[in-house]
Amino acid sequence: MSVSAAARSRVTALSAKSPELGPWLALYEVVLAELAEPTWSAITPELLAERQASGAQGGALPGGDAVPAEVAPGLTNLRIPLAKGPLKRFWGRLCEVAARSAPEGQGAERALREAAKLDGSELLALLEAAIDHDGSRVAALAGRIALPAAMLGSLAQLAVVPLLQACRGALGSSAGAAGAAGAAGATARRAWSQPYCPVCGGWPTLAEARGLARTRHLRCGRCGADWGAPVLACSLCGEGDHEKLVALMPEQGGEARKVDACGACKGYLKSLTTLGAWAGEVVLLEDLTTVDLDLVALDRGYARPDDPGRAPGVTLVEAPEPRWSLRRWWP
Ligand SMILES: [Zn+2]
Ligand SMILES: [Zn+2]
Repeated sequence: MSVSAAARSRVTALSAKSPELGPWLALYEVVLAELAEPTWSAITPELLAERQASGAQGGALPGGDAVPAEVAPGLTNLRIPLAKGPLKRFWGRLCEVAARSAPEGQGAERALREAAKLDGSELLALLEAAIDHDGSRVAALAGRIALPAAMLGSLAQLAVVPLLQACRGALGSSAGAAGAAGAAGATARRAWSQPYCPVCGGWPTLAEARGLARTRHLRCGRCGADWGAPVLACSLCGEGDHEKLVALMPEQGGEARKVDACGACKGYLKSLTTLGAWAGEVVLLEDLTTVDLDLVALDRGYARPDDPGRAPGVTLVEAPEPRWSLRRWWP
C-alpha cells in the first residue's frame, strides 16, 4: 500500500502549525511508514465457518445470533492470519516512540518499554480488542503491565490502522486474495445504510461534502472506509426532523467547515467541503486538523457517541512464518 503525498504534507503542515501535536504525529508517522510494508497488503481475510454457512453475506455474532448482510460490517466473523514477527516489530516501534514522550514520574515510560515486549499472542488479543472497542479486555492487559488502560487503548487504536486499512482494500475488491469475502463485502456496501462503518463497525470520524454536488460521504478514520449518507438527516441516529438538526459554524470559514449536530441523539459529526475523496490514511489527520470544530460542538453540549458502534467480532490468528532462514545459505 502506498502512502499518499497528501498524508505526508498534512503531517508537515500540522507539525508546523501545532507543535503540541508533535508526540501524536510522531506516532502517526510510524503508522504511515508501516502502511507501506508488504505484510499488510498480503493479508487474506477468511470467512469463518459460521459465516460461510449463512451464505457469506451476513454473519453470526459470538453466541450464534444471525446478523443480516445489510447491518453486518465487512469484518464480521472474519478470521485473519497475521505474521507475528512484523507485527511485533511495528508494535515495538510504536511503544518506543510513545515512551519518548511519556509523562514523567508516573512509571509510564518504563511500562511502555514493558509493553513493547508483549508476546505475539498478547498482541493479537490486544488488536482484536481494539478493533471491537472492547475496553475490558484492553484494561486487563494494561493492568498486567501497569500501563494506564487509556494509554494502551489509544496506542492499540493506532496499531490497528494498517491492518484495518488493508482490510478495507481486501474487502472492497471483488478480485484478489479476499475472494468470496471481497465480493460479498463490495456488494453489501453498495447498499450500506447504517451509521457505523461498513468495514470495521466504528462510528464515522468525519463527513465530506464532496465535489460540486456536495454529496455527503461518511469516513472512518481507522480503516478509511467511505460510504454515502443522506444530507437531510442525522448521520448518527437517522433523525430527519429539520427542527432538531443544527449546523454549527466557527466564526470564520463559512459552510466549508461545520459541525452537524442533532438535538435528538445529542451527537455531532464534523463536515468538511472537499473537491475529491481523502485517501484513507488522511482521515485521522483531517480529524486532528479540525479540533476547533470539536470545541464548538462540545461547548454547546453535543458529544461523539460514547458506545463503540458495531463490534465486528474479528478473529486474528498467527500466520505461519516463512520457512526460509537467513541464518544459513544452503538449502
Ligand atoms: Zn472503519
Ligand atoms: Zn442524531
